[in-house]
Amino acid sequence: MLNVHSYESMGTYDGPGLRLVVFLQGCPFKCLYCANPDTIPFEGGTPTEPDDILKMALNQKPFFGKKGGVTFSGGEPTAQAEALIPLVRKLHENGINVCIDTNGGIWNSHVEELFSLADLVLLDVKQFNPIRHKALTGHENTRTLATAAWLEEHGKPFWLRYVLVPGISDSEEDMLALCRHFGKDSTGRPRYQMIKRVEILPYHTLGINKYETLGWEYKLRDTPLNTKEQLDRAKKIFDEYFDCAVLN
Ligand code: SF4
Repeated sequence: MLNVHSYESMGTYDGPGLRLVVFLQGCPFKCLYCANPDTIPFEGGTPTEPDDILKMALNQKPFFGKKGGVTFSGGEPTAQAEALIPLVRKLHENGINVCIDTNGGIWNSHVEELFSLADLVLLDVKQFNPIRHKALTGHENTRTLATAAWLEEHGKPFWLRYVLVPGISDSEEDMLALCRHFGKDSTGRPRYQMIKRVEILPYHTLGINKYETLGWEYKLRDTPLNTKEQLDRAKKIFDEYFDCAVLN
């Protein structure tokens, strides 16, 4: 049984092509800007038979085209890795592409198997600086960086996603540190050849009303949205280190 928060059909933001996005309930992080805070608690959600998700995917398969498929997002989908594995196998048996959208913060043998099976991993790196990562998410980023290294070592294609929050994750120092870790070295060779795309995601406040409903404080209330100059500056920094950086 999988614990599902919600679905999005024809999603275009979470992986290539048109996708069925399955948002799973529960996440160990608590990012200050989380746009879906109602997916964080592990209680709640709808217990769902994996075969019901398979049926939904099969119904939508004609729309997936060559690139699309199913993305498991959340919440944190790897928290339900054991139950996801047989479903991913069945989706593959039916020729359906599978992406996993993850913060990379959970590791066990099931997560390893799930990543081995995935066609593409969307790895959210919230902050490169460990102290600021902890302040932003409540957890250190050691495991997330180790997950990235595992994906690279195992030849698993992944996208790096970075939310650019003014005053939280947009300092030149932090962006350069991330770029120097993952991007091209001084000879122009990518350090991480499995990174196929880097998405710079502008900060938004679309989930802010959900905090009120949950009775939680939205701690970034005074954080402004990105200016065009900030976004352009970030893109320029990332472009120096990656050939595949995009502003989403
Ligand atoms: S990792 Fe994603 S789902 Fe979890 S708290 Fe952060 S933004 Fe929300």
